[in-house]
Amino acid sequence: MHCPFCGANDTRVTDSRLVADGDQVRRRRQCASCQERFTTYETAELVMPRVVKSDGSRESFNEAKLRAGMLRALEKRPVSAEAIEAAVERIRQTLRARGDREINARDIGESVMQALKTLDHVAYIRFASVYRKFQDLDEFRAEIDRLSQEPNQESSSTVRHTSEPPK
Ligand SMILES: [Zn+2]
Repeated sequence: MHCPFCGANDTRVTDSRLVADGDQVRRRRQCASCQERFTTYETAELVMPRVVKSDGSRESFNEAKLRAGMLRALEKRPVSAEAIEAAVERIRQTLRARGDREINARDIGESVMQALKTLDHVAYIRFASVYRKFQDLDEFRAEIDRLSQEPNQESSSTVRHTSEPPK
């Protein structure tokens, strides 16, 4: 690679090590011409599938948007930032592991719902009520009843207390 200082094309690697838990390679380089030293970082380029929206338009996968949606649902809920980040990472890996070039926005929404379901039932209900647009109150109630029968860190009374009918 070219020297960023003098532009000479002969630089050599003087040191190479794994950083960021092995996800990155850090290389120390030195220019053979001007002797300046610099550092480069190498990471794998992880290509995410394109997102196909319900109207058929395409957009790039947007991790920030995904995180924002989850955070909105998890607002004021007792879930740690670490747990949320781990869930975001799992969703990203799952979507990438499908190996598809395109993915429906709906499938991403479903992945988020599954993640929220294991994180926090209230957040799950919040997200699902907006995302899935429960057809009617009975459907919504059935979902809450089903959840309250599942063992979870949240008590069913908490779910009932904070649940609201869809708007
Ligand atoms: Zn140089």
